Formats: sequence, structure tokens, C-alpha cells
Amino acid sequence: MENKTEGRKQLLIIGGGYAGFWSAISAIRQSREIKKTDELEVTLINPDNYFTMRPRLYEVSLEGLQVELDKYLKPLGINQILGKAETIIPEKREVTVSTAKGIRHLQYDYLVLATGSSLRALNLPGIETTFNNDTFNNALDLENHIIKLAKNNFSNEGDTTFVVAGAGFTGLESVTSIEDKAKAMQAKYSTKESKFRVVLVEKHDVVASFYAAQGQQYIIDTLKVKNVEVITGSHVVYVEPSAVLLSDGTRIPTSTVIWTAGMVASPLTYFFKGVKDSLNRVSVDGYLKLPGYDNVIVAGDVANVKVGNDQSATMSCQFSQFQGRWAGHNAVNDLFGFPLKEYKQPGYTTCLDLGTDYALITEGWDRVTRQTGQEAKATKAWVSTDLIYPSVDVEEAVAASFPAIPNF
Ligand SMILES: Cc1cc2nc3c(=O)[nH]c(=O)nc-3n(C[C@H](O)[C@H](O)[C@H](O)COP(=O)(O)OP(=O)(O)OC[C@H]3O[C@@H](n4cnc5c(N)ncnc54)[C@H](O)[C@@H]3O)c2cc1C
Repeated sequence: MENKTEGRKQLLIIGGGYAGFWSAISAIRQSREIKKTDELEVTLINPDNYFTMRPRLYEVSLEGLQVELDKYLKPLGINQILGKAETIIPEKREVTVSTAKGIRHLQYDYLVLATGSSLRALNLPGIETTFNNDTFNNALDLENHIIKLAKNNFSNEGDTTFVVAGAGFTGLESVTSIEDKAKAMQAKYSTKESKFRVVLVEKHDVVASFYAAQGQQYIIDTLKVKNVEVITGSHVVYVEPSAVLLSDGTRIPTSTVIWTAGMVASPLTYFFKGVKDSLNRVSVDGYLKLPGYDNVIVAGDVANVKVGNDQSATMSCQFSQFQGRWAGHNAVNDLFGFPLKEYKQPGYTTCLDLGTDYALITEGWDRVTRQTGQEAKATKAWVSTDLIYPSVDVEEAVAASFPAIPNF
């Protein structure tokens, strides 16, 4: 068995997204605070060297959306394993990881599970030919596909039509940015100009009903302004190579279907006892600890965490990045017998990008409109380019990893 060095306690963190990254940094900060750095070894497992800014993957450009993990992990003495955790055996405190060099078996004294979420796998004919903005590589596939269409002057039937399936947050952000993305590729790679058609397909009878009336109307009006064709009360049933078939019999010729519907937590949650919610998440207590285990914390999209008004935190970086700060802090304190800090994040905001000139900021669980238009756009830009990134200065990031919610 690996990683049992010099009797140091082993903190193993699986996942290098918002929750996992901040867990690792916060663990280092807290181990310094309680003067236990010599007794602790922190290891982070992630398939690649990137902390990906997932909330930005729908954007026109993919530049700057990945932060290199080793720039933080190396100077802080955190072990990095590039690999995918395949199995967890809680009774043996063991994680099996597949890496480029083969399978590794790691032992832990304390585990932080932070493996996030992904699009739900669907048994839909042709789903494998669709695109999505779920991971960096998938967003890159979409970009390369559009470049290919652009180089061919979007000349085949359906090349100029983009169909977005699902009108949740990701669907709305994708559908209002895809034309600008196509135009950007056209300007770079085409020799003639094409006109684009953008279609949003939503199975509910109305779009954006999860917003209060004012926000919903703003979204509906914005979709109109942006010439997005909205089809409600219908869903995709078949994806052909150059068309999509809807449940109401409509057939839309298209070379590009962007799938955005249905998120689900990482399947690693199934290695633990306990009920999972409809999103596959495990319920944790007020300290992010997994009931029934004395050495497991779960944070981010894999955790069902109660926040203000007895609501569960949504799968969002808004919650994940702060849960990460609590996770690292509490894992270290629990390992060394110090008191845990209760996780509290009562506020809830949504920052929805609706493409050039349009955005919507809401507050509270009723999603009441606070900002629209350019004002909202400026807020969203600040969130996307500043708030969700760690400082480039490693020690500043360490200081920012203290578990507290800043007063924005
Ligand atoms: C297009 C899009 C737009 C979004 N917009 C917003 C928004 O506006 N606001 C907002 O708050 N949220 C938004 N989100 C949601 C937000 O990105 C997620 O909720 C957030 O990334 C969750 O953080 P996390 O750390 O739990 O998981 P992730 O960020 O998904 O990180 C999980 C990490 O774990 C790694 N991992 C997974 N499985 C394994 C394994 N078996 N072994 C090792 N590593 C593994 C993954 O590769 C990844 O690096 C958006 C998401 C998308 C896709």
C-alpha cells in the first residue's frame, strides 16, 4: 500500500474543481494554524492538471478557463496524482486510482470527496453525436466542430442551425451565446457569410419558470430579441446525423445539437452507505461530514447540504467553492482533535449570462430580479473573471481559503 510516509496523517482529496481545490488549500492553511504541518500529508487526485472554470464553458472563447493546479499544489507541498479514482472501500480506507502508469492503491486517514457532477447519461438514439459544455474537452469538441463547419462555409443542410436541448441555466447561457460563437468562427475561417438559426427546445410548457415572474419575462423577452426560436412542451427523441426529431413530430435539420439537460453527481457517492437524493448526492451534516463515517467529508456537487430556509444547496460553484474551504478546514481539525466549524451560507444569488448586452442577477430562493442589462452584465463579468478564480498569488489564495462567506 502506498502513501504511508513517516507516520504522517493522510488527507486524500478526490477532485480538483471548486470544492476539491479549495479543500486542499484550506487544509494547508489550517494545518499551519494548528501547527501540524509536519504531521500531515495532503494528496489531491484529479484526472488532469486543471482546475476548470466550468461555469464559463458556454462562452464564445475557451481561453483562460483552466487554472493549472500544480502552480498551487507544488509550492504548498500537496501531492498531486493525475488519475481517476475508480473505487473507494471505506472500511479499508482505501481508494483505487487509474493513472497513465497503471492502477494505484492509496490509503487515507481522512477523505474529502469532491468529484462534482456531470450530464446524466441518457438512453436516447444518437445522443453520442450531440455536443455539450459540461467539461473543457467537450466544450473544445464543440468549438472544433464549429470551426470545421466554418471552414466548409456552413454549406451543408443544417450547418447553420444550432439546437439547444434544455432551458435550465446552462441551456439559457448556451443558447444566447452560440450564435456569437458561430459568428466568431465564421469571421476567422469562412470565405462567405451565412445567417444562423438558433432553436431552444424545452419539455416544459414555458421557459424559465424557476425564476420569479419579472426575471422569467426578462428571459423570454431576451430570447425574442436574440431571435432564438423557442419550442416548449416538446423534447428531443432522436438525434440523426444531420437532423433532430422532437416528440411532437417536428424534424429540424441541424448539424449541431447542444445537450444541456440533467445533471447528476459523480457515481463515487455510491461507495458510501446512505440514501442518495434524486441527483445522486449524499446528505451531509452541518459540518459537511458524512453520517455513519468518522473520517469522510463530502463537498460541492456531490453533497446534499442544507443551507438557508432549509433549502439544499444547488449544484453550483457559488456553493461548492465555499464548501471546499470548510471541507479542508474541518478535515484537518477532525484529524487532530480540534473543533469543527459549522458550514453556513444563507445567501443565494443567480448570475445568468444571456449573451451580448444581456444578463440577469437575482437574489434569494424566489429568484427575485436585482439587476438586468448592462448592470447585470458587469456583475456577471466580475463573477466570471474574478470571483470564481483563485488569486495568482499562492499565499493570497491560502489566506482566502478561510471558511467564511465574504460580504459582497
Ligand atoms: C456550462 C456551465 C455553466 C455553469 N454556470 C454556473 C453559474 O453561473 N454559477 C454557478 O454557481 N455554477 C455554475 N455551474 C455549475 C458549476 O460549474 C458546478 O456546480 C461546479 O463546478 C461544482 O464544483 P465541484 O468542485 O463540486 O465539481 P467540479 O467543478 O465538477 O469539479 C470536480 C472535479 O473532480 C474531477 N473528478 C471527477 N471524477 C473524478 C474521479 N473519479 N477521480 C478524480 N477526479 C475526478 C473532475 O475532473 C473535476 O476536476 C455551471 C456549470 C456548467 C457546466
